[in-house]
Amino acid sequence: MENQVKTNIGVGCFEHPDKTVVASCPNCGKFMCKECATKYDSKLCEDCEKERVAKQEQNYENMKQQHKEQAKNYKKDTVKELIKLCVITVVLGIIGFSIGSSDGMGNGFTMAWLLAGFPWGWRIINQLMDGNMMTWFILLTEKFWIVAYIIKFALAFFIGIFAWPIKLGITIYHVVTAKKYENNVNKAYK
Ligand SMILES: [Zn+2]
Ligand SMILES: [Zn+2]
Repeated sequence: MENQVKTNIGVGCFEHPDKTVVASCPNCGKFMCKECATKYDSKLCEDCEKERVAKQEQNYENMKQQHKEQAKNYKKDTVKELIKLCVITVVLGIIGFSIGSSDGMGNGFTMAWLLAGFPWGWRIINQLMDGNMMTWFILLTEKFWIVAYIIKFALAFFIGIFAWPIKLGITIYHVVTAKKYENNVNKAYK
């Protein structure tokens, strides 16, 4: 009976006009016979399914590019960080060496090492003594705030002795892992 109604008004499946309509495409509303309606899991018609797959592929392509780009930028950042560290170390090292070497080569290298480590020691000291700690520290030595700063400088130099080789090691490690990560991402999307 239902069949008759549909054939009577001259509407059949879009692809197979002689077949009974059992559903319509959820996207475009095209009438579909049983064969057409069950062809794809998406329950979409031929055209809409093609469109959906194309869109999905495009999304995947975009994601792939984004992922590759991210890995590349991450590696770039780590390389930049390494270059920055090397430049600072070399510049401070040369200054330190020229100050210290007037008392002999040994002193030159010691000063170079100390000065190269200072920024990293200073940074660590500041991280350890956040704003409140610093206020507390200066208050404690209120009358002798210069002493407080001398202690702070001395600590920064001392921490720097160990901090810069460690920082260098960590930075190189970051570059290596970032490069590995980039390779893996590129391999995964081949
Ligand atoms: Zn459709
Ligand atoms: Zn059909």
